[in-house]
Amino acid sequence: MKEANGAVVVVKNLVKRFGTLTAVDGISFEINEGEIFGLIGPNGAGKTTTLRIIATLLPPTGGDVKVFGNDILKDADKIRRIISYLAEEAGTYRNISGKEYLSIIARIYFESEKEASEAVEEAIEFSGLGDRVNDMMKTYSKGMKRRIQIARVLMTKPKLAILDEPTAGLDVFHAQYIRGIIKKYAENGGTVILSSHNMLEVEYLCSRVALMHQGHIVIQDKPQTIKNRLGASNLEDAFIRVVTTG
Ligand code: ATP
Repeated sequence: MKEANGAVVVVKNLVKRFGTLTAVDGISFEINEGEIFGLIGPNGAGKTTTLRIIATLLPPTGGDVKVFGNDILKDADKIRRIISYLAEEAGTYRNISGKEYLSIIARIYFESEKEASEAVEEAIEFSGLGDRVNDMMKTYSKGMKRRIQIARVLMTKPKLAILDEPTAGLDVFHAQYIRGIIKKYAENGGTVILSSHNMLEVEYLCSRVALMHQGHIVIQDKPQTIKNRLGASNLEDAFIRVVTTG
């Protein structure tokens, strides 16, 4: 369900504390349907914590989060059916093939065998792994594992894909391939929130971004608007300006 203003993810005054440490300190943002929204910021800024809360994996300390009209605390089951989450360090199984892995997930999500096998074929195409999809996953490179994981996340056609550093640790070819898949997914109506350290990547992918620093959002807008406002040539430069000048 969309909010009156068209937002499908609404985060209001979100706070998360771990003991005395405040990881997320009262952040608010909204994401519209079909949008790729980026959370960027340095290590420890609170990006993963925010994504895990939206994915219903971690309860917030305070604030409200709604995903397609569902409250993350009251309607977590409903949310889990419409989202898909890619963890920063998502592992893979060693002794099954990529295709078997995708098939197991598809059978959990899809009711009919036909739907499941169509989804697997589509995901194999997405992954770009070709015949290697039949090899044991222990033989895959880091990039191949990430491609299988992205294919797994998008295969279930989530209304919201939550991607924690989707291209971390990948070479330019693998990273570009994955960016292409994410972009296409959003062009087909999917909504995406992702985190990244790579500000250039975010600038290329995202319609809007939020720069996070020490649990706060220091600025959020379209990449071009942020750059214009701060007189910066790229987002990296903008981020440094906004953090160092307060
Ligand atoms: P990175 O870019 O390094 O992945 P991040 O922006 O995703 O960083 P988070 O992982 O959200 O940052 O961490 C925010 C803060 O919360 C950090 O100080 C981190 O140490 C702390 N933190 C995260 N998870 C826990 C936890 N389970 N218990 C205690 N502290 C935590």
